[in-house]
Amino acid sequence: MRQKGMWQTFFSTLDQWLMHMVFDERTCDVCFAHQDEYAGSELRSTFPYLEIEDESLIYAKVHPHCRCYLVRSPRPEDIRYVE
Ligand SMILES: [Zn+2]
Ligand SMILES: [Zn+2]
Repeated sequence: MRQKGMWQTFFSTLDQWLMHMVFDERTCDVCFAHQDEYAGSELRSTFPYLEIEDESLIYAKVHPHCRCYLVRSPRPEDIRYVE
């Protein structure tokens, strides 16, 4: 049995993460091919070099100097309306 740790918090299988590209003057085909939405359980295998910035932002690091990032898509139960 795996210990509960940080990864469960970040990569819950229920999470959805949306990849965003930073557009430069050149469009990178490698990164462009990764434009998609990923389940938390897919992140580690899809982006082995990812860097966690905080609980809702991950740098994808598709390749060195890659500036793409993943943003957590809120699940309906996570959305709270503040008056
Ligand atoms: Zn790229
Ligand atoms: Zn990139």
